[in-house]
Amino acid sequence: MRIGFGYDVHRLAEGRRLVLCGVEVPYSLGLFGHSDADVAVHALMDAILGALALGDIGRLFPDSDPKYLGADSMELLRSVIGKMRERGFLLGNLDITIIAERPKLAPFIEKMRENLAAAFGCDTDRVSVKATTEEGLGLAGAGIGAHAVVLLEDV
Ligand code: MG
Repeated sequence: MRIGFGYDVHRLAEGRRLVLCGVEVPYSLGLFGHSDADVAVHALMDAILGALALGDIGRLFPDSDPKYLGADSMELLRSVIGKMRERGFLLGNLDITIIAERPKLAPFIEKMRENLAAAFGCDTDRVSVKATTEEGLGLAGAGIGAHAVVLLEDV
């Protein structure tokens, strides 16, 4: 088995969509970034790449490359999952914690789990997505952060 951890933060900005685990969450602000800035999927990709010791998404999908401008992070995730499979690994389970003061994410969590499970081709019982605040402290007041842990199984 292999374990991997990923962490990412993006700041909130006007005139941007808020996309988390491929779900567009209605909100007055969105996450700023070169791609769609899906911070949860970015943390998840870094966790998978970490488990495989393949570096990080900055190396794989550099934000200096116009090819990734406005990129769909779920599509990038499918490419990372492809690398995982090529090396003979399957997802054991994953656990993501999204840190956001607002908006409330509870109504969107199940759809996020379904999106990720579909990308891996696994059951949703291997996919956990949670949301928390930092009680007004920490980084997340001005943005949204995410932690991700994955366990990969050698098959
Ligand atoms: Mg990022």
